[in-house]
Amino acid sequence: MKYDYLIVGAGLFGAVSAHELNKMGKKVLVIEKREHIGGNVYTENYNGIQVHKYGAHIFHTNDKEIWDYVNSFVEFNRFTNSPLANYLGRLYNLPFNMNTFYQLWGTKTPSEAAAKIAEQRKEMDGKEPQNLEEQAISLVGRDIYEALIKGYTEKQWGRKATELPAFIIRRLPVRFTYDNNYFSDKYQGVPIGGYTKLVEHILAGIEVKLGIDFMAKRTELDKLADKIIYTGPIDEYYQYCFGKLEYRSLRFETEELAIDNYQGNAVVNYTEENIPFTRIIEHKHFDQVETDHTIITKEYPSEWKEGDEPYYPVNDDKNMELFKKYCLLAKNEKNIFFGGRLAEYKYYDMHQVIKSALYFVEKLKS
Ligand code: FAD
Ligand code: UDP
Repeated sequence: MKYDYLIVGAGLFGAVSAHELNKMGKKVLVIEKREHIGGNVYTENYNGIQVHKYGAHIFHTNDKEIWDYVNSFVEFNRFTNSPLANYLGRLYNLPFNMNTFYQLWGTKTPSEAAAKIAEQRKEMDGKEPQNLEEQAISLVGRDIYEALIKGYTEKQWGRKATELPAFIIRRLPVRFTYDNNYFSDKYQGVPIGGYTKLVEHILAGIEVKLGIDFMAKRTELDKLADKIIYTGPIDEYYQYCFGKLEYRSLRFETEELAIDNYQGNAVVNYTEENIPFTRIIEHKHFDQVETDHTIITKEYPSEWKEGDEPYYPVNDDKNMELFKKYCLLAKNEKNIFFGGRLAEYKYYDMHQVIKSALYFVEKLKS
């Protein structure tokens, strides 16, 4: 065998595992079916602006070890994500905080806002939330649910909010302070020079082959290494033998505009159901660069079908049942390991993927 490990996928899970294994003296080959490294965090410099090609990425974590880890490869800026929501032409601050409550109801103090929310979520009193709709109403009440959550969520996921798992909405903080920081984590930022530079540094000194689809050449690739780390979709690896897992896909529409500032903010969400995109990203605001032009991307969600990029796992009960069947197959494998957002079918953020890869390599040592 030429390599100790063949790593399928040059996203964060693949790159971090490759880096750590290489550090341990293992011979590693990374293959990637796209023509670039980075997976979904890939950024491309376009006329002086780092464009987040697969959607806006803001790094955030409470874990100092992970923050120090990424900062050991590149420097991060101090970007704070404060998206706005556009509903019926009016703007609201996110996440749900005292600014949002003021904009919706005119409440000025935390006790006024808390009283309003208590009245708004009465319908959930004594009930345990069973789905995203009930969870949202029990967190912030019906007004916010109808204006800022229902339309966005149903576009994003292509399913009724009553059919979606509650945990999705628990990602968003609810605060009784005037604080528009979308994340509650201690550390937050964007790598200076882009995410591609971060992944390039993680992969420094490691052999990487681009434009190779493992599934198309698995027989010959299998022979190259003792062990395989696979970060693509787990159902695809098993040729959908139990059926297809569902994913949400995205279509990105990017334009360059001959003005220096389009929306004054990196992210503006469009929460009405009848506007087909979920958000507009204005890339230059992530890096606060000065240019006389700007680049914006509209994000259109769609149902995944074979051939599309799978972006989000749909972690509802039906899909989780199916995923468990694939996990049983994976558990019996001796020389193949599955990791990352697609192989673990998990709504992971970047810091969680890195943590998971570090943990995975640590376990290999024992
Ligand atoms: P991926 O990045 O998907 O990498 C897997 C790689 O494997 C891909 O490059 C793929 O091409 C390759 N591959 C798959 N199959 C094969 C095959 N058969 N042969 C060869 N190669 C293959 N996280 C945050 O922390 N903050 C954010 O703001 C944030 N925003 C996001 C916005 C969007 C729109 C999306 C979709 C995700 C966002 N995330 C964010 C999550 C983040 O993108 C992921 O946590 C992270 O990129 C997952 O890394 P990964 O290595 O598991 O997967
Ligand atoms: N969400 C919403 N309204 C918004 C933003 C988010 O209802 O304006 C809901 C929606 O269900 C979304 C979830 O909150 O899928 C998580 O949002 P997040 O911004 O974390 O999504 P991501 O960046 O991962 O797409």
